[in-house]
Amino acid sequence: ARVVDADSSEEERRIEAALRPRRLTDFPGQQRVRDQLGLVLEAARRRQAPPDHVLLSGPPGLGKTTLAMIIAAELEQPIRITSGPAIQHAGDLAAVLSSMSEGEVLFLDEIHRMSRPAEEMLYLAMEDFRVDVIVGKGPGATAIPLELPPFTVVGATTRSGLLPAPLRDRFGFTGHLDFYSTEDLVKILTRNATLLEIEADPAGVEQIASRSRGTPRIANRLLRRVRDWAQVHGRHVVDLPAAEAALDLFDVDARGLDRLDRAVLEALCQRFGGGPVGLSTLAVAVGEEPDTVETVAEPFLVREGFMVRTPRGRAASPLAWQHLGLTPPQGSPG
Ligand code: ATP
Repeated sequence: ARVVDADSSEEERRIEAALRPRRLTDFPGQQRVRDQLGLVLEAARRRQAPPDHVLLSGPPGLGKTTLAMIIAAELEQPIRITSGPAIQHAGDLAAVLSSMSEGEVLFLDEIHRMSRPAEEMLYLAMEDFRVDVIVGKGPGATAIPLELPPFTVVGATTRSGLLPAPLRDRFGFTGHLDFYSTEDLVKILTRNATLLEIEADPAGVEQIASRSRGTPRIANRLLRRVRDWAQVHGRHVVDLPAAEAALDLFDVDARGLDRLDRAVLEALCQRFGGGPVGLSTLAVAVGEEPDTVETVAEPFLVREGFMVRTPRGRAASPLAWQHLGLTPPQGSPG
């Protein structure tokens, strides 16, 4: 797996669970979403009723699961966690919904990947707190309505554009998570170094933060790789030389781009003359799924100004050519 892959392994999920901030006030960054969510939760507390359903959107590893858990903790309610791909049949969802208790939080990760029948069942449950349980088969089948106690759905998606409008409309509040500033990542890393008993100096931490693609999950992972490097080299502090050497070893460049990011830019510049080129053609050129290029590499490359999305496809920016040390062809827009 890529060292900067924003998805996490089983082992990593264990470490992540231990590092998750538990309350809104311990959650650095995403100031706007935090303020908005703080207000929604406080109002619900005062009304002594569950808040509106909450949708969290943004690239992987920015803290959607963490925020869902924080929402439950702030409401002092239990949380049930499942995901779109785990709910393939409406019956799977009916089983979960019919056992929700009043006020409980239901976290639905990757909600855009739920099956259509399950999605339709969710509409009804979110709006009217009701599920129709189908009894029997064929023409004799009947729907028996089952009342549910009020609860809160927290949905997470990396692709809010893929959510059908009727589903999107049932969320009273949508929080868009954006990449973190280096400053916020420094705060997160400093706290986590202490929790993991890693001795780190400010220059080392800053270096890791600035190369972490604005993503806490990646920052945490790079911190552990730099710690490995320092240990193996008999140095006990995560400092600037250790951070630089380890990150170079793992192919994370000075701007935080990894091998896939650079492969995408190289393909754009060298094979397609700077583009524009369609997403699937670009994905084939780098040997990846279009979805990976679109959700993992692209958001960061666009946000950092290396790539632009045009109606005719993806194109390299002048910064991309410069970063790769290449000269754009004469007359090219790049
Ligand atoms: P995915 O959609 O891939 O599951 P996610 O957006 O749900 O990702 P989380 O699992 O919440 O991301 O976060 C990944 C890791 O980053 C966790 O270890 C979490 O503790 C850490 N993290 C995320 N945001 C923050 C934050 N603001 N402060 C501290 N740690 C954070």
